[in-house]
Amino acid sequence: MKNIIFIAPPAAGKGTQSDLLVKKYGYVHISTGDLLRDEVNRKSELGIKIADIMSSGEFVSDEIVTELLKNRLTQNDTNNGFILDGYPRNLAQANTLDALLSELDKEGYCDDCGGELISRSDDNESTFKVRFDAYIENTQPILEFYREKGILNIIDNSGTPDNTFALIESVIK
Ligand code: AMP
Repeated sequence: MKNIIFIAPPAAGKGTQSDLLVKKYGYVHISTGDLLRDEVNRKSELGIKIADIMSSGEFVSDEIVTELLKNRLTQNDTNNGFILDGYPRNLAQANTLDALLSELDKEGYCDDCGGELISRSDDNESTFKVRFDAYIENTQPILEFYREKGILNIIDNSGTPDNTFALIESVIK
């Protein structure tokens, strides 16, 4: 199975599409935001260190996120295909990921869908703007990085989640 990297602004529905792909194809969904939130929720030494940065919507340092991702990618369940959601988020991370993958030699309830709505500490109007701006400034430029490699697929996300899912399927099949 092809590994997938989702590059899209906050609240674009990366998590929703990942869940659908996990259910239908058995992908492993790796969200660096989730990995970081786990640390915060567990109140680990690292979690205490990053809690404020997470709540502000700013980026956590590349070193910290990359280390967490590396640990996650070395677990065996990632051998059959994984979705990266929230990483890479800037060009440095895109380069790190290339190196990492060759090193590891790895090929409330919503009215509409009934899904559970989870309120996150960085999920409010002011931090949304910080997160959105961070996406435009740091993450959007990496589209070019993957376009140049010939592995970029742009998905039109303006329709329903089902439409988006069908478009993603047409790329991975
Ligand atoms: P997300 O769930 O992807 O929106 O991530 C939530 C927060 O975790 C972000 O606003 C950042 O503070 C942090 N974060 C997640 N992934 C990364 C990353 N690749 N690089 C830096 N910070 C990250």
